Amino acid sequence: MTVTDDLIKRAAKDLAAASHVVALTGAGISVESGIPPFRGKGGLWEKIDPMEYAHIDAFLRDPAKVWGVLIKEMKDVVDQALPNDAHKGLARLEDLGLLKTVITQNVDGLHQAAGNTDVIEFHGSFAWQKCMDCHNRCETRKINLEQIPPRCNCGGIFRPEVIFFGELIPPQHLSRSQLAASQCDIMLVIGTSAVVQPASLMPVISKESGAKVIEINPERTPLTGTVSDYIILGKAGEVTRKIVTEVEQLIS
Ligand SMILES: [Zn+2]
Repeated sequence: MTVTDDLIKRAAKDLAAASHVVALTGAGISVESGIPPFRGKGGLWEKIDPMEYAHIDAFLRDPAKVWGVLIKEMKDVVDQALPNDAHKGLARLEDLGLLKTVITQNVDGLHQAAGNTDVIEFHGSFAWQKCMDCHNRCETRKINLEQIPPRCNCGGIFRPEVIFFGELIPPQHLSRSQLAASQCDIMLVIGTSAVVQPASLMPVISKESGAKVIEINPERTPLTGTVSDYIILGKAGEVTRKIVTEVEQLIS
């Protein structure tokens, strides 16, 4: 048996014995769904300058320009993306009564699409658009791009429900996340190096509250060996699927 297999069994045993699991997820969990990360090599911010296209001032100054490049590109990717085995695994852990909350840095809506019901989205959601005038909401995949920027029936411009650069993370998202992080007995960190605030605080809060912190990441992160109890190196979908299969056997 490999080290990874050993750790998968260990994680399954820990999860099966837990009563309140919280997951923190980042871009790495959605890579297998075809969604490229924003940061890092091959990321969207290498192609598109975020200050020119992802800052709220840029959007307010010229919504057609931001819609025509960044939002259209994201819509093309997100409209077609489906939850992968990692998202489905977390939804299954909720079905089993173990997982209570997902805290995510992602805006792709794939946790909800997989079936998780309590998802805190630090950076908002790209799955929905909101009219800037009447606040009417529309699913992003139903938005018609014949007219750029797309407009609501009232004539107002639609904007994604994401947090643009220059906008604040809603304080209630932060306080709810901190509460969830402090209440869990296991914090599962999947697909994020958790170096960006405020996400980076959540595993620390869990650890200080007595929880086990388990990482599933392709490589070691600043959490590894300091905050996390152990790391399972590998792809989010594959590792999560194996863990959940083991958990199902343990608690059935
Ligand atoms: Zn409107």
